[in-house]
Parts: sequence; C-alpha cells; structure tokens
Amino acid sequence: MSGWHHRHILDLAAFSREDYAAVLELAERFRSLPVTGARKLPALQGRLVATLFFEPSTRTRSSFELAAKRLSADVQSFSPSSSSLSKGESVLDTARTYVAMGAEVLVVRHRSTGVPQQLAEDLESAGERAVVLNGGDGLHSHPSQGLLDLHTLARHFAPQYPMPEALQGRRIVLVGDILHSRVARSNLWALTACGADVVLCGPPSLLPDAFSEFVAEPPPGQSVDPVPKRGSVRVERRLERALPGADAVMTLRLQKERMTQQLLTGLERYHRDYGLSHERLSLCGQPVPVLHPGPVNRGVEMTGALLDDPSICQVEEQVRNGVPIRMALLYLMAAAESASEAALVSISS
Ligand code: ASP
Repeated sequence: MSGWHHRHILDLAAFSREDYAAVLELAERFRSLPVTGARKLPALQGRLVATLFFEPSTRTRSSFELAAKRLSADVQSFSPSSSSLSKGESVLDTARTYVAMGAEVLVVRHRSTGVPQQLAEDLESAGERAVVLNGGDGLHSHPSQGLLDLHTLARHFAPQYPMPEALQGRRIVLVGDILHSRVARSNLWALTACGADVVLCGPPSLLPDAFSEFVAEPPPGQSVDPVPKRGSVRVERRLERALPGADAVMTLRLQKERMTQQLLTGLERYHRDYGLSHERLSLCGQPVPVLHPGPVNRGVEMTGALLDDPSICQVEEQVRNGVPIRMALLYLMAAAESASEAALVSISS
C-alpha cells in the first residue's frame, strides 16, 4: 500500500499490477468486516466526499455513497436537475462550490469523455487539495466498475486468495456493445494487466477491428505501459467461435443513449446473434460465470432465465463487490493524503 501513488483515479490504463493487488487486497479486508453502523471504520471521519453525477446512475452513485459512509465520511450528493447547472453554472464551478464547502474527494460522472480529467487538472492548477475519482466518463473509462469486475472474477476463480494472479491465463469473453462501453475499456486494461486473454465478440458496428490493438500501445498520455507484459486481445465476430474454452463471459449493455446512428438492425436480431442463454453457454464446454455491469436490457443481452439464475449470473455479486472496492479506492486516496492508514491497521488487525 505504501507504493500507492495515484492522487486522482481517472483511468485504469495507469494502473500497475501492484496497484490492482493493493485494491483487491484492501477490498477483501473491507469485505470481511461487519457493516452495521456501530462498526463503521473511522478512516475518513471528518472528511467530505461529494458525488457529482452529471449523468444518471443507480448502482455506482449509491455504492460510492455507502462506501464513503462505511468509512465514516460525510457525504454530499449533487443532482443536476435540482442544481444551478440548469441556470448555466459550469461543471468546474459546480465542483469548486463543493470544494469550497470542504469536499476532499469528488466522485464525478459525466456523459462527455475527459471531464473528470479536466476537473482534476483545473483543481491542480488552482492549488486545491481535492482529488477526483472518475465515476464514469463518456465512452472512455469506468475504473471502479473495472475493479469490481476484477474482484468478482478473482473471487470466483480463487476464493481463498482472490488476487490478480487468479486471472493469469484465463480466457474472458466480452460480448456486445464494446464500442460505446467505458466498462469494456476499463476491463480491457484490468484483465490484460492481470494476464487474462480477452476475446471480444460483437458485430463490426459495435466492435471495430481496431479493438484488437487496444492495449498494444502504451496507454494514452504515458510513454511506458505500467504493466510490462499484458494478456492478449482478439476479436471474434461469432459467439459460436468466441465461447468454446471460455472461463468467464461478460456481456455489455447496448448503450442506446450513446449511439449516434442506427447501428443495429433490431434488438431481436441482436439477441439472436449475441444474446446469452443457458443453451448458448453450453458452448463454453464448462460452467462459467456471466457478468454484466447493469442496467440489463432483459431479453436482449441475455435471457430473463439466465439473469435470474444466480448460479451463473453474477450481476448481484458484482453489486455486492462494488462497495468494498469503492471503500478501498476512497481509502487509498485518503491515505495517500494523510496518515489515516493507521486507522485501518488498528481496526482490522
Ligand atoms: N452502469 C455502467 C456505466 O455506467 C454500464 C452501463 O450503463 O451499461 O457505464
């Protein structure tokens, strides 16, 4: 944990294997703690976490708020519809209002790529101490989702020791709307960093060929990849070719709100070609977990029967894992700023 050096958390492209290990290890420790009010951890006592979600959210926002409260932080949440944004206030000015009220961590979601990064840069140049945690920006990145997916898979493959090595050599199939998915991008960085081989599957309109090169270059803005050797990425157009040999399958929501043109000829056809069902999954040749970041289009990305089958479908498990993962992120950011590490050590040992 002492090697943690990320002030802001904007993109998993910047994470090394040690960073993933630090987050998973902490999440596992937080997970095993009782969660009722009286047993909250004091790590963020007296600190203010603001959740600034300029785009709708069910899971991510409440999960961050719960995580912050379990670490005893004060939480302020912002809602665009009832704010001065409707009077024309800019995102930066809105954020600075919360910083002026004492917010030290801003969890930011925005429909445009790069807004959390821009905010972090603006706060840095204004000399503010507040840090930014990306809660999902445009098509670009959703770090906490990528990490909770990693945690879910690591726990599935190695329940006794759910660390990055649990993913080494595993074949993980990502299906569907990769093009519009920030979750897919964050998973590509996380899974390949942990040595998994990723198979991407979808039609060309939702999965351009160029995705096979996604992790081939150093991440944007960095001269060197923080991960010396990543797992592979390949593109398959047909599920029948992608599924055999899979160790896990993740299917992604059709991001209708991000589609700028008529990319699909119809949901029925999409379901026929890329929808997951119990029958289809038998192509994997072994029982595999199915992940989906939610919200699910029932009957489109997967059948209702599969969604309701907890022996395969990990959606609720992903939601459960989101809280300790976000506690770990908030904790690491705060600990990097102060000596609150001592608080955790004294509670958990
Ligand atoms: N909830 C995830 C996100 O915010 C996935 C989705 O919306 O499909 O990106």
